[in-house]
Amino acid sequence: MRRRWLFADQLGPHHLDAPDQPVLLVESRAVLRRRRFHRAKAHLLLSGVRHLAAELGDQALFLQVDTYGEALAQVDEPLDVVQPTSYAADRFVRERGIPVLPPRGYVTTREDFAAWASGRRGRLLMEDFYRWQRTRLGVLVDGVEPVGGRWNLDHDNREPPPKRPTLGVPDPWLAEEDEIDAQVREDLDRMERDGQASFVGEDRPRWAAVTRAEAVAALERFVEHRLPHFGPVEDAMLAADPWMAHSALSPALNLGLLDPLECVQAAERAYRSGAAPLNSVEGYVRQVLGWREYVWSVYWHVPPDYRQRNALQATSDVPEWFRTLDAAGEVTARCLSSVLHDLRERGWVHHIPRLMVLGNYALQRGWDPEQVTAWFHEVFLDGYDWVMLPNVTGMSQHADGGMMTTKPYAAGGAYINRMSDYCRGCAYDPAVRVGERACPYTAGYWAFLDRNADRLAGNRRMRQPLAGLSRLRDREELVAQERERGDAPP
Ligand SMILES: Cc1cc2nc3c(=O)[nH]c(=O)nc-3n(C[C@H](O)[C@H](O)[C@H](O)COP(=O)(O)OP(=O)(O)OC[C@H]3O[C@@H](n4cnc5c(N)ncnc54)[C@H](O)[C@@H]3O)c2cc1C
Ligand code: SF4
Repeated sequence: MRRRWLFADQLGPHHLDAPDQPVLLVESRAVLRRRRFHRAKAHLLLSGVRHLAAELGDQALFLQVDTYGEALAQVDEPLDVVQPTSYAADRFVRERGIPVLPPRGYVTTREDFAAWASGRRGRLLMEDFYRWQRTRLGVLVDGVEPVGGRWNLDHDNREPPPKRPTLGVPDPWLAEEDEIDAQVREDLDRMERDGQASFVGEDRPRWAAVTRAEAVAALERFVEHRLPHFGPVEDAMLAADPWMAHSALSPALNLGLLDPLECVQAAERAYRSGAAPLNSVEGYVRQVLGWREYVWSVYWHVPPDYRQRNALQATSDVPEWFRTLDAAGEVTARCLSSVLHDLRERGWVHHIPRLMVLGNYALQRGWDPEQVTAWFHEVFLDGYDWVMLPNVTGMSQHADGGMMTTKPYAAGGAYINRMSDYCRGCAYDPAVRVGERACPYTAGYWAFLDRNADRLAGNRRMRQPLAGLSRLRDREELVAQERERGDAPP
């Protein structure tokens, strides 16, 4: 049996052919030097590799080096790899003649997706893909019919938050650090001190799973205590409750510690045993079997120039206060300040703050989508190349001109006000667009439409918003105000 080179996001047992297969693990310092990661992300990656090396003992050859090339020069036996999850790593191993096995930890192969897409004449819709997945994999179906008679329960899952500070569900599983984490922390401190790396974000205790046993415990806790509450408020935000009822399992899934089918099947069992309602279970299955697999497949399906697309010709640099997660506390807008604070603390916020607070702001301000995509990659614990391009370049920044979404995800303060408790106690007012109390999201939304009116004119779904723009009495004043505001912290 060849020695299997496991990358840092291939840590689960399903990446090996047999439990005793010899393993190569590489910790590369150059990776951390190249970009300014969230400190918690650097910690998670090193902790994951080191925990697996410790678990495997002599079975693993564990090399702590500067570059991958340096590591390979020390290995004098044949290797193979499970297909890496980025174009760059995939190219790296193929160029060195290392045999590449099909990907694991995803249920959709490139061939599956190509076959599905070829029947759709270029019209790719996540909803169609998701139904196809459920049918072919037999998830939440009775025969060929969806359980409960409906494929899509989104209608039941878009409630605003309750009128209390927190949802009141038990916390997600949270890690307890050990001596390996202590060593990682010491090493990262030294790298920072010696100028070998620089990080953003706070160095809080690790919360996400890095071993298979931890990931299984985290999945069990989610299914038992939190999944029943997941659905109705999955799009809602509460300032004092960043977790809401989300699984917080994306770091573990993306480290390759859990298989998506085991997550989905655990959720389905909870429904079939009566432990969780259908809308919550369907909502969760849609995220994992639908969105995650769709994003993974789109990454490999789109042409290589996708990364550089910039359909809205957005060219401003991402400002430093945003890059450093508002470390200096300059942001007044309560929603943005609160989300950047949560991100600084944990390297994670759920999907609506990502899309409607962070991504929405970058889109409105016309920040360069490639820079925005790189930023998301660096500061999120679960950020990897494959997940960034479709989610950020495509869905959030509309840089692909509408392949991922039919219209840009731009929204004013009214959306944030409806779906959160942020606006209460904010210095701005979501209903005001000009003047001292003008909400930066509301004003930013109209300024975004004004800047992109010509580019969006051909989009049927933008007709109504553009008609609204042309009726604004204070349009000129608003545009001048937002130009003045520029990229200063709002
Ligand atoms: C702008 C933007 C950036 C994002 N960046 C990332 C990222 O770097 N890494 C990442 O894993 N997800 C990303 N997502 C998707 C989603 O926000 C996170 O997967 C989710 O918030 C993780 O928290 P959770 O595990 O509690 O998810 P839950 O709400 O519990 O959802 C269950 C699971 O579904 C999967 N999932 C749901 N939506 C997506 C999606 N669009 N893409 C991939 N997986 C999905 C995740 O594995 C997640 O664990 C991004 C979304 C947006 C809008
Ligand atoms: S008023 Fe505007 S800036 Fe303030 S919290 Fe609401 S949406 Fe955010």
